[in-house]
Amino acid sequence: MQNICKLTPLLVVTMALGTTIARADALTKLEPKKLEAVHQAVQALRADWKALPRLGPFREHRANLHVHSRWSHDSRGTIDEIVAAAKVTGTSVLMFNEHPAEYYDFFKDGHQGMKDGVLLIPGAESQGFLAFPTMSLRGVTPGTPQDYSDLVRGRGGLMFVSHLEERMDWNVRGVTGVEIYNTHADFKDEKKMIAALRNPLWLLQATEMVRRYPQESYSALQDYPADYLKRWDELCASAPHTGVSANDAHQNIGLVVRWVAGDKARVEDALGKLLIELDVAAIPGSDGLRKGKQVGDELFRLLLDPYENSLRHVGTHLLLTELSEKAVRESLEAGRAFVAFDWLANSTGFDFAAVTESQRLEMGSQLVMTRGLSLRGQAPLPVHWRLLRNGKVVEESVGRTLSFPVVESGNYRAEAWLDIAGERTLWILSNPLYIAPPD
Ligand SMILES: [Zn+2]
Repeated sequence: MQNICKLTPLLVVTMALGTTIARADALTKLEPKKLEAVHQAVQALRADWKALPRLGPFREHRANLHVHSRWSHDSRGTIDEIVAAAKVTGTSVLMFNEHPAEYYDFFKDGHQGMKDGVLLIPGAESQGFLAFPTMSLRGVTPGTPQDYSDLVRGRGGLMFVSHLEERMDWNVRGVTGVEIYNTHADFKDEKKMIAALRNPLWLLQATEMVRRYPQESYSALQDYPADYLKRWDELCASAPHTGVSANDAHQNIGLVVRWVAGDKARVEDALGKLLIELDVAAIPGSDGLRKGKQVGDELFRLLLDPYENSLRHVGTHLLLTELSEKAVRESLEAGRAFVAFDWLANSTGFDFAAVTESQRLEMGSQLVMTRGLSLRGQAPLPVHWRLLRNGKVVEESVGRTLSFPVVESGNYRAEAWLDIAGERTLWILSNPLYIAPPD
């Protein structure tokens, strides 16, 4: 796969189709050296990692929101493979947001209940929201976003504004919250990477890299979601908005090479759409690929966004009374959650709370300023803490714990950062504590 000369026939085919050729060296984050350095840095964190007892009365469960399965037109994922991926990545709550369509009812037909220890909750990605209603919405045609939200919220459902980058001007009253990170939105600005992924030649060349560093090459898309967080801070100024991460997991980027006849192979994308037909001989290592295979067989498959990697990349950790749909809904309603890029390190045990002599209030709580009030944080690794008040950094420190005496009311949230291969990288985002001035 490394020999570029051998790829020339493919290159010609690809160029004839007008595809832009992006060179691997332009995609700096995907350079093998860089991937190896990131890989080493992530491994090295394990030696420092310390298990932390969960403070407070709740149990922590990792959730993935905005997951698509084969119910959605742009995914072929089966529930078995998604649940298997959840288990490998420490996820015990899967919240689906399928694209609604005529051929099914996302609420009634959607994945629901316990499967293999993983709690499944059906929902839709529709009209700009992640909607988790408590009833079927079949036949319902909401007017404005406000009408739609009111309808779902009025019956006890959850509504999160999705893909904030497309709706920064939305002011929908009474929503549960917003996506504060969306993997697909993060990916959209990676123009060079996208061009490369659309290019079968590049994909064939990238095979070795993706096989060696599956998570590092997937998570190379991670940036600090500055626009999302700025908007979130603004929205929280008017009312609490629970921040969640959106995996937007589809498992639909990659390619499959199928031997179709004689010397011909068909290159399809991960959804089965034909990209190009070419001579099998043009594929590097084609002799080995054909060994023991027959015409019609799959010769080669490369997936860049398998569920395992997209679910591990980022997750929303919930503080629950128990593992049930009711408890999940309560915690999201209350903002008792934090978002973590767990591909860097397991964030279990992270804490951010308001503490007085007699009381402890979890993330998402609304409280009134009192004497002796302080904010406390802990993380399972030494981190760079950034404490923000109304969107502005008011304190930075280094260590496993954070302690900050509160002298001013405001919305406080914490960020924990790690140094990864020379780059300070966001690891954890807490939900805010909403501290009102005393009467
Ligand atoms: Zn989606």
